[in-house]
Amino acid sequence: MNIASRLNRIKESLPSTVQVVAVSKFHEASAIHEAYEAGHRLFGESRVQELVPKYNELPKDIRWHFIGHLQSNKVKQVVPLVDTIESVDSLKLLEEIDKEAAKFNRTIKILLQIHIAQEEHKYGFSFDEAEEIIRSGRLKTLSHVKLAGLMGMASFTDNDAQIRSEFKCLAGFFSKLKASYFAADDSFKELSIGMSDDFPIAIEEGSTLVRIGSKIFGARE
Ligand SMILES: *Cc1c(COP(=O)(O)O)cnc(C)c1O
Repeated sequence: MNIASRLNRIKESLPSTVQVVAVSKFHEASAIHEAYEAGHRLFGESRVQELVPKYNELPKDIRWHFIGHLQSNKVKQVVPLVDTIESVDSLKLLEEIDKEAAKFNRTIKILLQIHIAQEEHKYGFSFDEAEEIIRSGRLKTLSHVKLAGLMGMASFTDNDAQIRSEFKCLAGFFSKLKASYFAADDSFKELSIGMSDDFPIAIEEGSTLVRIGSKIFGARE
């Protein structure tokens, strides 16, 4: 099967409430173009040095989501190119994105990355830290970022029950935030959970954005 048919088969299997972020990291622009020709417009990259040349080479109606750990000093390179930064994992980063977005007169959608996995090394806020940022009102003073929801990565394990329980926890937290702070704010709506190996579970637990790489583009070298 080729890229277009793998992508279309996944898309056909999803509820209409779920969008696919096609994660093209480590793959050539030509592979992205194949998915583009099949009608896909939403792509994810996790490294600045890959995003920049791909952005330059590919059609400008692609919507890019940045999904990797982002250092503050690279924000100025990313902000002019992306629709959404899914991997916001510090207040400092959030402030930097706002500052740079203001220079371009843009509003960048952001997701707060929440640490739900057991592994220590994964980035992200705890539930308490994320809620504190929201409750503090600090976000409202940042006029060039718009909080669009939450992102999380489950533990790297083949224990489906564990993965499901991590997604369930995050989905519960998302619903609690929605009810407490964003009941009247339609922009807070995205729950980005699910990758190639666990997206069916994520969808059952309420995902609205699945970030799928290898199941579309093949294994990364
Ligand atoms: C690489 C990556 C993905 C996609 O991983 P696959 O297992 O290839 O689908 C999703 N999310 C993030 C944050 C990634 O870095």
